[in-house]
Amino acid sequence: MVMTLQIHNLTKRFAHTKAPAVENLSFSVKNGEILALVGPSGCGKTTTLRLIAGLERPDGGSIHLNGTLVASGTVFIPPEKRGVGMVFQDHALFPHLTVFDNVAFGLQGRTRAAIQAIVSEMLTLVGLQGLAGRYPHALSGGERQRVALARALAPRPALLLMDEPFSSLDSDLRLEMREQVRTILKTMQATVLFVTHDQEEALFMGDRLAVFRDGHIEQIGQPEEIFHASATRFVAEFMGDSDFLPGLASSEGIETELGRLPQKFRPHTPVEIAVRADDIDFVPDEVGNAVVAARFFRGAFNLYRLRLDSGHVLHSFKEHTYLLPVGARVRAWVSAEHSLAVFEKAD
Ligand code: ADP
Ligand code: MG
Repeated sequence: MVMTLQIHNLTKRFAHTKAPAVENLSFSVKNGEILALVGPSGCGKTTTLRLIAGLERPDGGSIHLNGTLVASGTVFIPPEKRGVGMVFQDHALFPHLTVFDNVAFGLQGRTRAAIQAIVSEMLTLVGLQGLAGRYPHALSGGERQRVALARALAPRPALLLMDEPFSSLDSDLRLEMREQVRTILKTMQATVLFVTHDQEEALFMGDRLAVFRDGHIEQIGQPEEIFHASATRFVAEFMGDSDFLPGLASSEGIETELGRLPQKFRPHTPVEIAVRADDIDFVPDEVGNAVVAARFFRGAFNLYRLRLDSGHVLHSFKEHTYLLPVGARVRAWVSAEHSLAVFEKAD
């Protein structure tokens, strides 16, 4: 199978005094797949998209689109010849063009009837049939974003690049747009590289996720795998507020302050186990092994911070009606029924 996008050892350095923005980056996107690139601000996500789009030249490595080399240290195919569509955060619609003309923008060279048909199909797809004659200033943020998506999809690009497309929307709308846009992309069977700094958004949007850090990929895999079987401490922390419970691996499992966990690791190795608030449970217990250090109301649930007798801090979710005061003695345990990510203890 030919991958739609193949990146091999891609490197881009903006200044010789600074670390490269991306370094020896390699990954592929399959036909019809949404790959979510997620990582903190400044880790090289936008640079990667710009290199693929042809808005930057790489210093080394290669980019293949549908098997054709489009960029390397020596080869450079210009952006308009790459068949790549783009949707960016600021949606950048042409303010002086109607919705119809914005969507038709990438369709030059076709007959008037063909353009009509494609624009009409695209506006139906994004649910904006009635708004073809409007100008961008008379649209809501969500509508503008959907026009931008329709415009990018209209020429049927081989690959669609989306850079933090929802970050200028308020949070309710962002959730709604996520769902709509994913449905639209799947209807179109689009091949997409979707960039976000938002972990939840990445887990929702991506068929697979690539977790970025400092210009390289820490882990690439299915959302569940990234979340529950994080390959590094960075991934475990970045992808959802892990705490780290110390333990010692034995031939029986891993011995911890909260008892033995039935997981395998090289015996006699000091380890840390990534646990999240939904992996830990507790009950009031005079003897116990921990104390309630803080309680945070989160609407539907309470987040408890527990200080174990060793001083280690873990978190646990309880329903919002479950109220224990700060200072209460409790007995905590690992309630997760899935395996947890285990790391050799760094000292
Ligand atoms: P992200 O999109 O993940 O937030 P960027 O790709 O925008 O990250 O930036 C990665 C790094 O490259 C940052 O350190 C940034 O300052 C630097 N960088 C990006 N674009 C340029 C540029 N045109 N000139 C110099 N440095 C840049
Ligand atoms: Mg960016």
